[in-house]
Amino acid sequence: MKHRPNDWSRRRFLASTGAAPVAGLLASKCAPPPEAPAEIGDVYERLGVRPFINAAGTYTALTASLMPAEVRAAMADASQQFVSLSELHTAAGTRIAELVGAEAALVTTGCAAALTQATAACVCGTDQNAIRQVPNTTGLKQEVIIQRSHRFGYDHAIRNVGVELVEVETRAELEAAVTDQTAMLFFLNVANTRGQIQREEFAEIGRQAEIPTLIDAAADLPPADNLRAFTRMGFDLVGFSGGKGLRGPQCSGLLLGRKDLVEAAYLNGSPHGNSIGRIAKVGKEEIVGLTRAVELYLEKDHEAEWAEWEARVSAIIDAVTDIPSVEGKQFVPEIANEVPHARITWDPTRIALTRDDVAQALREGHPRIEPRPSAADASRLELGVWMMEAGDHKVVAGRVAEILAQEAGA
Ligand SMILES: *Cc1c(COP(=O)(O)O)cnc(C)c1O
Repeated sequence: MKHRPNDWSRRRFLASTGAAPVAGLLASKCAPPPEAPAEIGDVYERLGVRPFINAAGTYTALTASLMPAEVRAAMADASQQFVSLSELHTAAGTRIAELVGAEAALVTTGCAAALTQATAACVCGTDQNAIRQVPNTTGLKQEVIIQRSHRFGYDHAIRNVGVELVEVETRAELEAAVTDQTAMLFFLNVANTRGQIQREEFAEIGRQAEIPTLIDAAADLPPADNLRAFTRMGFDLVGFSGGKGLRGPQCSGLLLGRKDLVEAAYLNGSPHGNSIGRIAKVGKEEIVGLTRAVELYLEKDHEAEWAEWEARVSAIIDAVTDIPSVEGKQFVPEIANEVPHARITWDPTRIALTRDDVAQALREGHPRIEPRPSAADASRLELGVWMMEAGDHKVVAGRVAEILAQEAGA
């Protein structure tokens, strides 16, 4: 067995052997953290999988987020005793609903599962025959209305229930599309400004038509107020990921909303064996972990956290702006992942590197660094700082500066 470097020694290693042009920068800026973090095991090393510094954000394929120590401890606690899964679901749902001021809440295995169970709730309600029958929707309401610009990959989670998506564009089309076959109206929050009908109006149309509305807000924390905003706005059901901004377990999600519908969503999923949502079972560890994560999220000093993210972004920008033709800027996406990011651009005639070249070099380095996935300009790199661990931004700043400076001949 090889020596197990913990986070701490990894950083010291970096500080002493950082690549030539930036060794000084790393050594001088890489102050030891106030407390040495607990030793990190070698589970990934043993599998030959190399971890990375997350300079991307909460991307599922990059394992999204890391849980705070309190959440990890809660999950470890939960894993050591038996409980009734239904009692736990009910108790955690009640607690989370109280915390966020919703009528009811259900812990799911992710936002995608929340979409499936919410749809099933609108199609089947609490009818046991219907719950057993779907995805065969014969004799049940089988249409979900969606704005065309809100179609997205995860709408598969809705279609799992056997419903058909009816696409509309205008308010008049939406109102005309509502029939006795309509089970639900679906809204994708990140697409808010892409469609002709925006959130408030959409929720209001649902209320008037007496058709339940569901909004997918998976990646829309922060702002923390979103935990309350959409139910207040009038949406009957709201889905969030538990493993993104909430920093709960990666396999967790949250369905909030109307009590009767959340109860029906629960009956359409685990622990009920003969239900469409049973494939998305949530374990006791995730239920407890997400509950703790919601508590921590609401207690957190969001302003201080924001200030820390901005400081990281400016440290990264400062490290690169002396390089000829390189510019750095902070940006905040308008919806989803609504946090400070760094955008670094350069003149391709001065620095003959594409975004993918830089990403590849970051990935191959030691430590490995993963930048924000992007289909954007070839000479533009985006970095997310909110999923970085303490001190990571300095390492990233040094490494990005090194890669660009080398090619700029600076
Ligand atoms: C991440 C995401 C999902 C899926 O969420 P999980 O918690 O991974 O199941 C659904 N919708 C949107 C908009 C997302 O960003």
